[in-house]
Amino acid sequence: MAENESFRNDWATKDFYQVLGVAKDASAADIKKAYRKLARENHPDSNPGDDAKHETFKAVAEAYDVVGDEAKRSTYDEFRSLQSRGGFGPGMGGGGFSGGGFGGGGGFNLDDLLRERGGAGGGIGDMFGDLFGGGRARGQQQASRPRRGADVESSATIGFTDALDGVTVSLRLTSDAACPTCQGTGGKPGTRPHICPECEGAGFVVSGSGGAFAMQETCPRCGGRQLVYDEACPTCHGSGRGTSARTIQARIPAGVKDGARIRLKGKGAPGENGGPAGDLFVKVKVTPHRVFGRKDDNLTIDVPVSFDEVALGAEIKIPTLGGAPVTLKIPAGTPNGRTFRVRGKGATKRDGSKGDLLATVEVQVPASLDQTAREALESYRAATAGKPLRVGLFEA
Ligand SMILES: [Zn+2]
Ligand SMILES: [Zn+2]
Repeated sequence: MAENESFRNDWATKDFYQVLGVAKDASAADIKKAYRKLARENHPDSNPGDDAKHETFKAVAEAYDVVGDEAKRSTYDEFRSLQSRGGFGPGMGGGGFSGGGFGGGGGFNLDDLLRERGGAGGGIGDMFGDLFGGGRARGQQQASRPRRGADVESSATIGFTDALDGVTVSLRLTSDAACPTCQGTGGKPGTRPHICPECEGAGFVVSGSGGAFAMQETCPRCGGRQLVYDEACPTCHGSGRGTSARTIQARIPAGVKDGARIRLKGKGAPGENGGPAGDLFVKVKVTPHRVFGRKDDNLTIDVPVSFDEVALGAEIKIPTLGGAPVTLKIPAGTPNGRTFRVRGKGATKRDGSKGDLLATVEVQVPASLDQTAREALESYRAATAGKPLRVGLFEA
């Protein structure tokens, strides 16, 4: 967090505008002009041995480092403005931290504040809780109550045979951990935060007209983080939430169907303060098989047959999934679309027994005929001419 170095300055006790002898609303050009004049007058090279002027030179440089930089100046202004409203000054209601281990120089130290935010708990929430009242009690309740971890949703795409046999898949789960780039602040690394202007650093806002019906809600501007950044973290886009992931092994049971939602107990987000972990729900997508389909515990297959095979009867070979082909006996006069059941060649059931293979015949019409086949079919037509196939269509 070296970029927060400048916050080590005791901003609460130092008026940089006064040091430079300019007004609070002075333009950047005027500040620069004032700084150059003072730096020249107090420069150690022109004042050898004059310790007072050395000190002034250092103070002027320190002041200009902050208010001469647009971003730092605006943070400083926000900070001073909050302080002047009763926020941070020593002895000004800041009992929560003025003697309590922050910084140590007596002044408020934003660097400590940022470091506290990254710590295990307490930190800024407690400090602001002290300042604004109410927030601390709320924060502590939330912190110490055992809470069950959140349920986590994930999805897995598995192959057709894996769905039948069961399979162990690796799932990458994004966690609720802080964003690794910005440590959860939501700000672009290297940029500096301001106290949130919306909630004035409280993290929550009170809506309504006050009194019994006033509602306290999380500040919409800073999302309860109490600080805002001009530039959002490029990794989390300002949410502060992590994209860090963990990988777990999840067992998908045999016989899972496409679209099924499997619950893996205790594989969700970890609980807080001893609470149980949440559950992981895995939505399973099963990629279709090129040949076989699935109907409950049965497998299905569409079998192309020729007109003569169903008309005259035939014995045809059909594949099974993961086994040797089987012979299907098609009786003469089998209608198109009839389904045959091949026992024990389907999916494995829960009890270990197997479902059936359901084979449905689909009569194929040849797209072209050679001379011999054409003549044979013309003979067939001649032999069957006058068969009243469509009579039923015209009955009233
Ligand atoms: Zn806010
Ligand atoms: Zn981030």
